Amino acid sequence: MSYDIVIAGGGVIGTAVAYYLAKNTDFSIALIDIKKSGNASRASAGGLWPIGESVGLGCGVIFFKTLSKKLSENPDQDDVPQRPHQLPRFFFDFCLKSNEMFPALWSELRESGSVDFKLEKTGLKFIMFDDHDRVYAQQIADSIPHLSSQLRWYDQKQLREDEPFVSDEAIGALEFTRDDQLNPYLLIRAYREAARHEGAVIIQNTEVTGVNISAGKVHSVETVSGKINCDLLINAAGAWASDITKMVLGREIPVAPIKGQVVLSEKMPKIMRSCVSTSDCYIAQKDNGEIYIGSTTEEKGYDTTCTFDELSALSSGAVRCFPRLRESSIKRTWAGLRPGTPDEIPILGPVSGIDGYLNACGHFRTGILTSAITGEILHCMVAGKEPPVDVKPFLLSRFDGIH
Ligand SMILES: Cc1cc2nc3c(=O)[nH]c(=O)nc-3n(C[C@H](O)[C@H](O)[C@H](O)COP(=O)(O)OP(=O)(O)OC[C@H]3O[C@@H](n4cnc5c(N)ncnc54)[C@H](O)[C@@H]3O)c2cc1C
Repeated sequence: MSYDIVIAGGGVIGTAVAYYLAKNTDFSIALIDIKKSGNASRASAGGLWPIGESVGLGCGVIFFKTLSKKLSENPDQDDVPQRPHQLPRFFFDFCLKSNEMFPALWSELRESGSVDFKLEKTGLKFIMFDDHDRVYAQQIADSIPHLSSQLRWYDQKQLREDEPFVSDEAIGALEFTRDDQLNPYLLIRAYREAARHEGAVIIQNTEVTGVNISAGKVHSVETVSGKINCDLLINAAGAWASDITKMVLGREIPVAPIKGQVVLSEKMPKIMRSCVSTSDCYIAQKDNGEIYIGSTTEEKGYDTTCTFDELSALSSGAVRCFPRLRESSIKRTWAGLRPGTPDEIPILGPVSGIDGYLNACGHFRTGILTSAITGEILHCMVAGKEPPVDVKPFLLSRFDGIH
């Protein structure tokens, strides 16, 4: 078998890249995927939260609590809850640009007969329960004056009017009005079916087990079903990206699994207008009525077990915010592995010293949101066009001399 381009990994990133390449170029494309336990895209909340994620609200709060507990054990430190840091301005732009692509992408994929990935204009509210929350929300708003048109404040009364099921303890909210949501399973299917429709070949249940290189150039990959020749290999293997770079570069790159546990409720009548983040968890009611409660941020290697302490902390946080959740039952719990990088920024593009290879990995907690712009960037790199953003901050070489 021979293709111009092989993509290793068929999560949201691999399928998005396959779609944008198949639609916009004449190259022959094969996407090769094996489902490993904990693959991130199927674990995700489906949040399109460019501001929420860039300021760190997609972390989930057990992360904050672990940090603040560590600090409180240290008498020299103030016992104020620690909040995640904000990402750099170029990352906001990357996320915002990708978010803007979704309405057109939704229409385009539906019109071409692909799957409806249920884009919902919900907004994302950070719900405040005390003065720490209020100060934190104000700091967020103050740090992004250029995005003030996408912010809306609610006092307690306005919040109750907008979200009648929210707890009486909530004192107000800051909403990111263009942070929306979709169904992540359907998004992957939509990209995959559309890529197939545009001529890409999807090879499922197959692992890339080796990469053959001569004279500094990738020329084929090995799979359990045999060798596949290619001129270009794209690494979209999520938290397993280093398995591929070991085959190509003979070394790991700084992408590591970051575990996120999730609780999903049975279907409920609509109790939320927006997606919600609090200091305990984030909560999203999906179009079918199920409520998704996420998520932890844990460095536990490839472990995907679900644990009592973490799941009960998430559940209590959600019930504290929406007491009506007590009337619901849990449908499922699971854990997924985000492809984390040390600076929380994806790794995209070429690597010096090797031809025929591109990275499309390390999307940490925003791969659903940034799948569209990643597909577009990879298509521009392959076709020799100007990418929609400066790709320099996303190159692997930013870690040179550090990792
Ligand atoms: C709990 C949780 C909640 C999240 N919520 C959100 C959210 O609300 N919004 C958002 O934007 N992002 C969210 N994320 C992050 C997002 O899910 C990830 O950034 C994104 O899914 C990464 O996609 P990926 O395709 O790189 O990785 P994956 O989805 O993991 O896909 C990689 C694929 O490659 C396969 N693979 C690995 N090795 C090989 C090999 N050698 N050969 C062939 N195939 C291979 C894997 O099995 C897998 O199928 C969340 C993540 C988690 C865990």
